[in-house]
Amino acid sequence: MIQINKTKCNKCRRCEKACPFDAVSFSDYPEFNESCVLCGACEKICPTKAISIKRTSGKDTSESSGILVFAETKQDMILDISFELLTKANELSEKLDEKVMAVVLVSENTDVSILAEYGASKIYVFADTDFKKYNSEAYAKVISDLVKEINPSIFLIGATHIGRELAPRISSRLKTGLTADCTCLDINENGLLMQTRPAFGGNIMATIYTPNSRPQMATVRQKVIKKKKNPKNPEIIFKQSNYENKDIKIIKETIFSKTTDITDAEVIVAGGRGMGKKQGFDLLEKLADTLGARVGASRAAVESGWVDYPMQVGLSGKTVRPKIYIACGISGAVQHISGMENSDYIIAINIDENAPIFKIADLGIVGDVYEVLPRLISKLKSKV
Ligand SMILES: Cc1cc2nc3c(=O)[nH]c(=O)nc-3n(C[C@H](O)[C@H](O)[C@H](O)COP(=O)(O)OP(=O)(O)OC[C@H]3O[C@@H](n4cnc5c(N)ncnc54)[C@H](O)[C@@H]3O)c2cc1C
Repeated sequence: MIQINKTKCNKCRRCEKACPFDAVSFSDYPEFNESCVLCGACEKICPTKAISIKRTSGKDTSESSGILVFAETKQDMILDISFELLTKANELSEKLDEKVMAVVLVSENTDVSILAEYGASKIYVFADTDFKKYNSEAYAKVISDLVKEINPSIFLIGATHIGRELAPRISSRLKTGLTADCTCLDINENGLLMQTRPAFGGNIMATIYTPNSRPQMATVRQKVIKKKKNPKNPEIIFKQSNYENKDIKIIKETIFSKTTDITDAEVIVAGGRGMGKKQGFDLLEKLADTLGARVGASRAAVESGWVDYPMQVGLSGKTVRPKIYIACGISGAVQHISGMENSDYIIAINIDENAPIFKIADLGIVGDVYEVLPRLISKLKSKV
């Protein structure tokens, strides 16, 4: 709520000019229309402190407790992102002294106890044959109802294709905020979740808080957290879903090829501007075939139109953590490195011996990719 102290207001109209939403008009005193989002620009600029904003919390935040993780599945298999989130949830729970819980939707008779190995001490299971496949309406309804019932203080979801679609549906039903695509989570001195994510195209890292609503919701990028076991003796609670599908009928399903999904690849062969042309990626495909690897790329290669965006590694692309990462004709800009520096073993091929990529490479090859790669492929083929 905005309050105007008319005795203090000197009618300077700075608030009107400062408003980025055109929400302030002026007759005798400032008036605020429905475009106002309580951003505080007017309050800040007012020289006489005549404007004050009272932000009222929609909920009593003191009652909420526990960290809930959405355990994402595919065909009833629990995905790695769930274990990564549980690992982070356990780290946060040490600072908050709150329990870690998971919610999972699966077909009947699916064993979900593996979630306890990664630190879930309470597991809520919705078992129904309908849940073998993702259905946004059903998942959003069932999970939102559970969150309303158990009232966690934090709710984490993976920034996967499904998570990115599901999380806003849930946060909107719960009338709480959502920080999407976080790369770092921590707890501040007031016990609030610090949700850090790249902003403005990756030029700054923004840390976002949710002081007034619960749960504090964030989606977290895959592979930014290293999963770690932390076995617990879980309480497994089977819940009945009250979802009835009346509105959605699946007419056609198209399965996209997995070859461009690099997030779970154990070996990645990535190409940069140094590949020189689109056809250069055929060479990388050949190497990837020989190694059972997937092909990734720098932003320069994607922006040149040689490969598609899902293959981009880096700050504004994917974060990867393969066993082997082979960077071919990639200089090693910080924005690229931030997406692959946690790879177990990095091999770099670059014509420039001073390329920054060599600083983080475990093995560096100074040479032309068009000389090195064909020789490497033929050597590897002769060994198969
Ligand atoms: C906000 C922001 C976000 C960004 N996000 C990303 C991101 O997600 N991912 C990303 O990759 N970048 C990102 N970038 C861009 C990044 O700063 C670099 O511009 C980009 O990574 C450079 O790509 P590159 O290494 O392929 O090209 P270059 O920097 O041009 O390097 C090409 C390299 O190839 C070498 N080379 C040339 N010819 C050969 C040859 N024949 N054989 C061997 N080596 C050769 C050169 O010596 C050079 O080192 C971002 C930038 C900004 C500002």
